[in-house]
Amino acid sequence: MASTLESVSPSDASDVVGSFPVADAAAVNDAVARARDAFPRWRDAGDDARAAVLERFARAVDARIEELALLIAREVGKARWDAASEARLLAPKVAVTLGDGMKLVQPYQAAPGQRATYRPRGVLAVYGPFNFPAHLPNGHIVPALATGNAVVFKPSEVAPAVGAWMAARWRDAGLPEGVLEVVHGGPDTGRALAAADVDGILFTGSHATGRALTLATIDAPHKLLALELGGSNAILVCADADLDLAVSEVALSIAATTGQRCTAARRIFVEQSLREVFQDKLSRVLAGLRVGAPLDAGVFMGPLASLDAHARLERMRGLAAAAGGERVLLVDTERPPPYTGAGLVRFESTAQPHAYQREEIFGPEAALYPFADLDEAIAAANDSDYGLAASVITRSRAKYERCVGRIRTGVLNWNRGTIGASGRLPFGGSGKSGNDRPAGVTATLYCTAPQAHLESEAGFDAGALPPGMPRP
Ligand code: NAD
Repeated sequence: MASTLESVSPSDASDVVGSFPVADAAAVNDAVARARDAFPRWRDAGDDARAAVLERFARAVDARIEELALLIAREVGKARWDAASEARLLAPKVAVTLGDGMKLVQPYQAAPGQRATYRPRGVLAVYGPFNFPAHLPNGHIVPALATGNAVVFKPSEVAPAVGAWMAARWRDAGLPEGVLEVVHGGPDTGRALAAADVDGILFTGSHATGRALTLATIDAPHKLLALELGGSNAILVCADADLDLAVSEVALSIAATTGQRCTAARRIFVEQSLREVFQDKLSRVLAGLRVGAPLDAGVFMGPLASLDAHARLERMRGLAAAAGGERVLLVDTERPPPYTGAGLVRFESTAQPHAYQREEIFGPEAALYPFADLDEAIAAANDSDYGLAASVITRSRAKYERCVGRIRTGVLNWNRGTIGASGRLPFGGSGKSGNDRPAGVTATLYCTAPQAHLESEAGFDAGALPPGMPRP
């Protein structure tokens, strides 16, 4: 008998959000077979017919946006404002994909008789993380479907109800049977999906799982891997920064979504002369952040998404002292786990050899480092195994431009925190943050395979035969 996945709200252990049958390997293979069967009809339906379904999906989501926001808040604990901003991201993904995204994969004539087209890959597996349980899988699913692929979607086991809600909106939109299959479960279901007859894996989640998927598909080079992984993101605060702007952008980047964002800021490099005043102001803002039940009015951060997430954060916090850091802030929320408050740790140099400084920390916790000049700060920002996002806070465009191309991240912002990203731009990192197949607007590229064509309408030309080759 299939086991059951029970989704429980992190803010109220008595609130069971839903129960879902766990897909074992046989159920996963069946889902993939249904998607494989549906794929050719969807591929052959053409761009316009597919666009019509996608636009109906956008309208179906928009009509129930508040319902989705409440479900996200309930299932993963996001504060209401944060859940609502996630819910609002789904429909615009359709317009961006059908516009700028599809432009990237249009057939083009390179020269007379030389043309390139882009074909769908086939059946794509989509894996979602818990921290953006709707927006991030949506960011793979929409371009995959727009370009003619069928999809098998495995929502995060922390947020199966949000995954099921999204699948229901695709049904409302009239997506043909089999074109989007959903399989629920944890790592075992994920492993079975990677091993199944899929043509690609579109994954957003941790580096550890991205690594496991890379190893699992090492003998299947035909399975495209698009990996959007974790981060340990840096913000450089220069002495000429607008101080209030710097403090609020840094605080937001540390603590939005209770610090559970791949783009969250973990390493704050502050120019020496600004250090004390910046630390004071930042500590005051972080200490004042309102922590509470996700749906209560005026709450900035809800709980972490699970007790496991809380235990992982506490383990990382416990390593700060051994790394030589001085804890200067740990806000007590007076609420039980998985609630938590913001934390800050101060270091005296930019050296970052310790696990506390190098591993991804998923919670409202950051380290402050001093720097003497911009090139030292650039080198320190690059002293990371990850490469997802970074920001520079300065009034000087020249200082910011010095960082462009020198800081090795997929996102580099100016006078904006690390958590800001636009769906109209590429989004993805390198190093342990991903395999350089950025999502965002460029997701249509990894959902397709280019096909090159040498084309001729002319008949046989004996004069074109190489020397020594007889006429037929
Ligand atoms: P996770 O890696 O634990 O899980 C992601 C998905 O992979 C889930 O669906 C899970 O069930 C599945 N999974 C787990 N182990 C597996 C295995 N061995 N084989 C196959 N599937 C497996 O990630 P998470 O904890 O849900 O999400 C948080 C992580 O996601 C953080 O590291 C965060 O930085 C990252 N993230 C990255 C981005 C980005 O765009 N780069 C965005 C959001 C989150």
